[in-house]
Amino acid sequence: MYDLAIIGSGPAGLTAAIYASRGELNTIVLEGTEPGGQLTITSEVENFPGFPEGIQGPELMERMKKQAAKFGTEIVTVEVKSIDLSGSPFRLTAGSDEIEATAVIVATGSKARWLGLESESKLRGKGVSACATCDGFFFTDKEIAVVGGGDSAIEEATFLTRFASKVTVIHRRDKLRASKSMQKKAFDNEKVEFAWESVVEDILGVEEDRVTGLLLKNVNTGETRELPLDGVFIAIGHTPATDIFQGKLELDEKGYIVADEKGQTSVEGVFAAGDVKDTIYRQAITAAGSGCIAALEAYKWITDEEIPTW
Ligand code: NAP
Repeated sequence: MYDLAIIGSGPAGLTAAIYASRGELNTIVLEGTEPGGQLTITSEVENFPGFPEGIQGPELMERMKKQAAKFGTEIVTVEVKSIDLSGSPFRLTAGSDEIEATAVIVATGSKARWLGLESESKLRGKGVSACATCDGFFFTDKEIAVVGGGDSAIEEATFLTRFASKVTVIHRRDKLRASKSMQKKAFDNEKVEFAWESVVEDILGVEEDRVTGLLLKNVNTGETRELPLDGVFIAIGHTPATDIFQGKLELDEKGYIVADEKGQTSVEGVFAAGDVKDTIYRQAITAAGSGCIAALEAYKWITDEEIPTW
């Protein structure tokens, strides 16, 4: 029996754990099968405050984990298979264990969707990325591509022109899904080009161990062509990790948890933090901030005391 169970161990979950355990809540983190979350598949993180020289994503997460453990959080590498949210104490089934907790913070994050090509997984971190803010800088004066036609793809393409000499947006249709204002920025940007009605058949460069180009197929004619470049960003959407909450928490039409600015979900005592409820910002620092808020709100809910100023 715990005061607080935190599901997920990215920046949101671990920041929540640091605050909760410093507040002497008996706290457990169920870190899942991908401990550390998306930052562990990132290379250098240059925009997390406090690290002027940058820090590798996996190291940042390792440090957060140590910090949470230092204050007494119990961290277990186990996936929560099911959850009973019918009333507090909430019951979680994780591995062969049953865990009870007065309050729960859901910080299960979201995953970037990938194309599913073998070359894509082989070249991840070697020119294939799903995070423009993390990896854009590595493509200064290089030619790159962004796959997708939604807000993420167009925002990333525009952002990446700060670094890259040319950004080709590869979209499977002849119209973008992105908002008109986002589209206008991209259309007005001389560095952005479009490969319409095209899909990526293959990412080239596996033998060289770095991306050297793309094999594109026109969806109408079936014709293929090679596009030489140094990097490709996949921006075909994110999937929030909310399968086990279907029918138990209110989710929006894309499966994100609906929560207010305090992280309060549709069930009292169950809070959400980080990418699992964030359809816009999806940054490590915003996830960490929402983890802090969720922990403080959970503290207030569990103890019936005002939010302390730790
Ligand atoms: P999204 O809106 O779902 O767009 C995904 C894009 O990827 C679509 O253009 C889709 O093509 C394409 N796509 C999906 N699967 C594909 C595949 N297998 N191969 C090739 N292309 C594929 O996802 P998102 O752009 O990540 O945006 C998610 C949400 O966050 C949206 O609600 C968006 O408005 C919001 N967002 C907002 C901002 C902002 O306001 N600043 C920034 C980013 C995201 P089709 O168009 O053909 O379906």
